[in-house]
Amino acid sequence: MPIQLSIQELTKRFKTGDGVKGISLDVMKGELVTLLGPSGCGKTTVLRSIGGFLDPDSGDIQIQGKSVLKLPPEKRPTAMVFQSYNLWPHMTVYDNLAFGLKIRKVKKTEIDRQVKEALALVRLESAERKTPGQLSGGQQQRVALARALLLKPDVLLLDEPFSALDAKLRMEMREELRDIQTQTGMTMVFVTHDQEEALSISDRIVVMNAGRIEQLSSPQEIYDKPQSLFVAGFIGRINLLKGVSTGRSVSVSGIPFAQEHEYTGESMIGVRPEDIVLTTEENGSLAGTIRQVMILGHYAEVSLDSGTHHLKMFVPRERAAELRSGEHIRFSFSKIVTFPAAQ
Ligand code: ATP
Repeated sequence: MPIQLSIQELTKRFKTGDGVKGISLDVMKGELVTLLGPSGCGKTTVLRSIGGFLDPDSGDIQIQGKSVLKLPPEKRPTAMVFQSYNLWPHMTVYDNLAFGLKIRKVKKTEIDRQVKEALALVRLESAERKTPGQLSGGQQQRVALARALLLKPDVLLLDEPFSALDAKLRMEMREELRDIQTQTGMTMVFVTHDQEEALSISDRIVVMNAGRIEQLSSPQEIYDKPQSLFVAGFIGRINLLKGVSTGRSVSVSGIPFAQEHEYTGESMIGVRPEDIVLTTEENGSLAGTIRQVMILGHYAEVSLDSGTHHLKMFVPRERAAELRSGEHIRFSFSKIVTFPAAQ
């Protein structure tokens, strides 16, 4: 796929000293890339710079190979969906959608065709004559999405579009957005601070921290192979333990585990709760005591004490029913990630 959006060395400093520093990123045609990171890491600054609502200090933003930096927002081949839906309250859904096309002097029959097509895409055909106030939050956000879609932007920008919705609706909207993206092949840049949302909808995720990119990979790779302690801690749950690396292996409490990197010296070991396994094997395993078993639906979260380490593990519900607090067990790690301790 060709590159649709190219961000090159984007830098923006605010008077406060914050902003973004040297962000470079290519988004392919038809790709959904998510900017993910804690509040204040610079996600919105990048998104607004693409949309033209903010002037970067340096760097370039190209869409289909052409710099858009000199263009005002309305001349850019982008459209933006905001968290607050920004609909005209006194206009019907139909008129909200038709407005942008009327300004562009599109013919009436063509406007009608495009508005109906966009409403069908977000499954809101029946709401055509209603005003935004007569719709639920989720429906209003669908209208906002339809309005952006019918502008057929080269890049659709979405700024935390679902964060005002309740958890169940948020999950539905994720699925719908993914469906729409598959149907239309539209290139999208999505901003969120919700790691689950990012993992579930993205082709690739850009994890940002303090104005910089920490990691840019597929959701699977971000989860399985975090490149820094920050990414490991920010995405999913993880236990961090101290270890000592000797080349291809790392020892935790004297027990060696294979590691991917060739480190030596003190290390931090990351183990996901689902990668701690109970075993009856004494060789190569660690000893621990169960402190607490919390049933959380189809699995249980088990707290373990092992000498100086306090760990969390996930256990299938049936197995958890057999575990008692105070019980001595042995456990091992099916998968670890290692980081140099000095990180
Ligand atoms: P959030 O999730 O809270 O929206 P974000 O990751 O989108 O955060 P940005 O809004 O891009 O972060 O802000 C990045 C940094 O720049 C923050 O420290 C923020 O306080 C600062 N910042 C953003 N806009 C301005 C501004 N107009 N003036 C001064 N500082 C700003």
